[in-house]
Amino acid sequence: EAPLSAVAQHGEREVETALRPRTLADFVGQPRVREQLQLVLESARRRGVPPDHVLLSGPPGLGKTSLAMIVASELDRAIRITSGPALEKAGDLAAMLSNLAEGDVLFIDEIHRIARPAEEMLYLAMEDFRVDVVVGKGPGATSIPLEIPPFTLVGATTRSGALTGPLRDRFGFTGQMEFYSSGELEQVLARSAAILDIALDAEGRAEVARRSRGTPRIANRLLRRVRDYAEVRADGRATLPVVRAALEVYDVDELGLDRLDRAVLGALVRSFGGGPVGVSTLAVAVGEEPGTVEEVCEPYLVRAGMLARTPRGRVATGLAWEHLGLGPPAEPGG
Ligand code: ADP
Repeated sequence: EAPLSAVAQHGEREVETALRPRTLADFVGQPRVREQLQLVLESARRRGVPPDHVLLSGPPGLGKTSLAMIVASELDRAIRITSGPALEKAGDLAAMLSNLAEGDVLFIDEIHRIARPAEEMLYLAMEDFRVDVVVGKGPGATSIPLEIPPFTLVGATTRSGALTGPLRDRFGFTGQMEFYSSGELEQVLARSAAILDIALDAEGRAEVARRSRGTPRIANRLLRRVRDYAEVRADGRATLPVVRAALEVYDVDELGLDRLDRAVLGALVRSFGGGPVGVSTLAVAVGEEPGTVEEVCEPYLVRAGMLARTPRGRVATGLAWEHLGLGPPAEPGG
């Protein structure tokens, strides 16, 4: 753990790093993925080979990057970090791959956004630990096979459905990350409050947990906003009334929905009569990227039972109307 003084002196980014769980034991929740991963790691260790490639899938902030780092540290190996959008050319990937040492972990975040040529190079690398580097241009171009040391790829994606079949098939194990329960988020918060030296009492902690959209990153972020409020407008202690007042300032409602969540529900209900409406139309109505609405907003609205994804489009449930303080939808033609 980083010393408190170091944490206090640094910005939000460093704080997030300081709050990252370092070991599987530190990592709260996700019992299924954790158990599955533990088996994959342990059996590879016994056989003395790098573990199979791992794909972690789920909404942002649920701990995919943290788990990738834990995989490397449990294996006692280095981790190299990159992302799909950074791998525009096959050469970008070739450079990463040729710098790996045997047994290293290569983490590719947002792997569904990898460019085609790099993806094709990745197939061979994952399967045979080999890349074909093309040298020269035109008729004189030759392809030189290059051996790379055996490594473990950990890919993360918010949209496993957007992965091509051949890429998905090359992962030996896919961990589906789930939203966290309030109890699990309370554990995350207790640990974070201790690291950041924030006086968060049990009731305050339960309230922050309940309003964190099942997401540890959001829990940690709300905790920091609650600390700001407690320090500036109260005596520094984050009690239940202080937490409630702080979350009101930051537009986090009773169910933990933020501005964008409410905008999406509001547009769906008010502008489109509750749907069905396509996600791109909905995104335009709230001035957001369809990807953000689909990958950041919707998973939690679905899980909270307020939005349904149907083949014809998005539909608001009765709960959504209720939450917005509106009556039930009018009967069509009524
Ligand atoms: P993702 O890669 O899925 O977007 P991260 O691994 O970056 O998520 O997690 C975001 C932050 O949330 C981390 O910095 C960490 O503080 C916290 N976090 C995520 N998962 C856990 C967990 N299981 N236990 C404790 N903290 C967690």
